[in-house]
Amino acid sequence: MGRKFLVGGNWKMNASKQLVNTLVSNLNAAEWNTDEIEVVIAPPAPYLDLVRSLAKPEVYVSAQNIYFEKKGAFTGEISSEFLKDLGITWTILGHSERREIFKESDEVTAKKVAYALGEGLSVIACVGEKLEEREANQTAAVVFRQLAAIATVLKPEDWTHVVVAYEPVWAIGTGKVASPQQAQDVHAEIRTWLRDNVSEAVAEQTRILYGGSVSAKNSADLQTQIDIDGFLIGGASLTGDFITIINTRS
Ligand code: PEP
Repeated sequence: MGRKFLVGGNWKMNASKQLVNTLVSNLNAAEWNTDEIEVVIAPPAPYLDLVRSLAKPEVYVSAQNIYFEKKGAFTGEISSEFLKDLGITWTILGHSERREIFKESDEVTAKKVAYALGEGLSVIACVGEKLEEREANQTAAVVFRQLAAIATVLKPEDWTHVVVAYEPVWAIGTGKVASPQQAQDVHAEIRTWLRDNVSEAVAEQTRILYGGSVSAKNSADLQTQIDIDGFLIGGASLTGDFITIINTRS
């Protein structure tokens, strides 16, 4: 079976009840081929319940982060228990903003991925290089290091519920999108890495999303690439462009 195209919307720290109403109403009114396209939106944690209660069932809802403990004295953290209680089935982990601003290491990210999977959640695990790393020809080394940390703590069967998002840091929120070829090159390297270090089946089945300044203008070209299995969208997920991007696939 082919890999189902996935379009994720990461709202980051942007929301209000009014914005939730607008964005979810727009999505509820939109149509896409659900046999071929999966849509996942990740609002800020305080709005997860509202989004889940308003969104139609074809829209999956995701947290932007979780902690690797069930409960207790971890002020400000988000538990997988909260997500399960609210009917939230996905979480993003290892976003570059978590890695950079909140200093989450490869190991912490990997621990969170393993924990989330053990709790029955599906995970969008983000990897990607900074500009200076790309300029120093370190892209593959950085991405492989981030993947290796995750692979070390997972069993091959865990990968069924993992989606990898390749998000070059220099392309996030900058308007500087990777070219279709630049993205395809790294996606192909990630797939080869999975083949060599996990298994042929995991390499074939794992969806690899591209993220970084995807817009309604560039999504059609990007999605033609053989190893691009969807997108993780930041800024454009807060606009009507998100629906245009979803439907560039159909
Ligand atoms: C992101 O935050 O994951 C992202 C890709 O942001 P943007 O689309 O705004 O570059």
